[in-house]
Amino acid sequence: MTLALRFDNSYARLPDGFFTRLAPTPVAAPRLMAFNRPLAEELGLTDIPDEATLAAIFSGNTPPEGAAPLAQAYAGHQFGGFNPQLGDGRAILLGEVMDREGKRRDLQLKGSGPTPYSRMGDGRAWVGPVLREYVVSEAMHALGIPTTRALAAVATGEDIQRETRLPGAVLTRVASSHIRVGTFQYFFARRDLDALKALSDYAMQRHYPEAETPEDFLEAVIARQARLIARWMSVGFIHGVMNTDNTSVSGETIDYGPCAFMDAYHPGTVYSSIDRGGRYAYQNQPGIIAWNLAQFASCLVPLMPDEDAAIKRFTEMVQAVPDRVHAEWLTIFRAKLGLTSAREEDERLIVDLLTLMAEGQADFTNTFRALATGRARDQFTDRAAFDAWQARWTARAEGEPDPAGLMTRTNPAYIPRNHRVEQMIDAALEHDMAPFQRLNDVLSRPFEDQPGAEDLTRPPLPGEAVQATFCG
Ligand code: AMP
Ligand code: MG
Ligand code: MG
Repeated sequence: MTLALRFDNSYARLPDGFFTRLAPTPVAAPRLMAFNRPLAEELGLTDIPDEATLAAIFSGNTPPEGAAPLAQAYAGHQFGGFNPQLGDGRAILLGEVMDREGKRRDLQLKGSGPTPYSRMGDGRAWVGPVLREYVVSEAMHALGIPTTRALAAVATGEDIQRETRLPGAVLTRVASSHIRVGTFQYFFARRDLDALKALSDYAMQRHYPEAETPEDFLEAVIARQARLIARWMSVGFIHGVMNTDNTSVSGETIDYGPCAFMDAYHPGTVYSSIDRGGRYAYQNQPGIIAWNLAQFASCLVPLMPDEDAAIKRFTEMVQAVPDRVHAEWLTIFRAKLGLTSAREEDERLIVDLLTLMAEGQADFTNTFRALATGRARDQFTDRAAFDAWQARWTARAEGEPDPAGLMTRTNPAYIPRNHRVEQMIDAALEHDMAPFQRLNDVLSRPFEDQPGAEDLTRPPLPGEAVQATFCG
């Protein structure tokens, strides 16, 4: 099938051990559920084909001309335990497209059939998690947070077995790459230094061309990840599966599984059904990224001329990660309070607000949004305590150039609330895509108050609250 995309498949030119060449497994009856036209245009796709053609292409039935399909090899720590052999168990990298701005972007199908890395899995995904990743990743992008994107969702016309029979689907994901901490661990665990060097050179050139040494590379990845995690925290996002194979070297949010945005604020919040110990709870994310970056640093040590010196230096760098996340966190939360200048007392001010929010189970998104309009008080059970806090905040904000404007640009009105995502999936299963379209549309402008979309700012009613999220 021809598609006017400019492919240049650099990963496919890496040594054999990096991947397995493999075409997606065809599906019975592909049907286009969603297609992201603005993103397609960004990728340079000018003549967008009809729906049947798009469904054929983005189900994997007829890969586009210029693609070099493959499944990537990687390893990873899953919930702290090392697995030397993971890899794309249900994904196929179609190839890399040079977008309209000359930027290289991976095009990957997820749910496209078994691969040599599938282990016990069926290689498939069902409609629910596919639409969920579509909506949540696009919402993340609209929030201005680095993330993989969603180009297409195609129903396969085949059922798959989970707890029950469920309709299958394939997601087309766009990423600045799919190189993970786990990709490095794969070769490190094999003591394959040549491959490790080839991967490191490749990733540096692709993502950090200004980096000259593995130390520069580590520094750059630490900087991006510290900022990313702080930004997740700033919108109440809980990734849910921060395994090292789900930590991208590019600093993008990757692998939307049982992720969720918090409704009521509580630092210990966990949604993922598989995260029984709360390892990846909201407040643990800074510590976990430090842990994951320590694994990454270990992989780079053998590439340094003096390994003992490298261990010493990298240890210092990794030990500083929590402080780096904290510094980014402070900057972002200052902005959430409308503050541009930095003062010693700001941390106390932020923490005291969060404490009040946790005590009163205030809605995270709505409370911050309401600060700009002076309506935040309603979110608190202990109004007197809030009033006292507000007096301190008002005094602190004195002389700030434009607190209300900054807060409106920083505190979103709309996030993909779990119960809305679930309702959207339920509707899609009944072939009603209207809630999907609406959610996507509203979430594409999260900082704009949208008349008629007030219902999407409402926290879940007791019966609507989602208790757990699943990988799918
Ligand atoms: P995740 O927890 O989503 O990061 O996935 C961990 C590993 O399991 C990756 O290697 C995935 O490719 C693989 N995997 C997840 N679901 C499936 C599935 N349904 N079939 C095959 N492999 C899967
Ligand atoms: Mg993964
Ligand atoms: Mg996953």
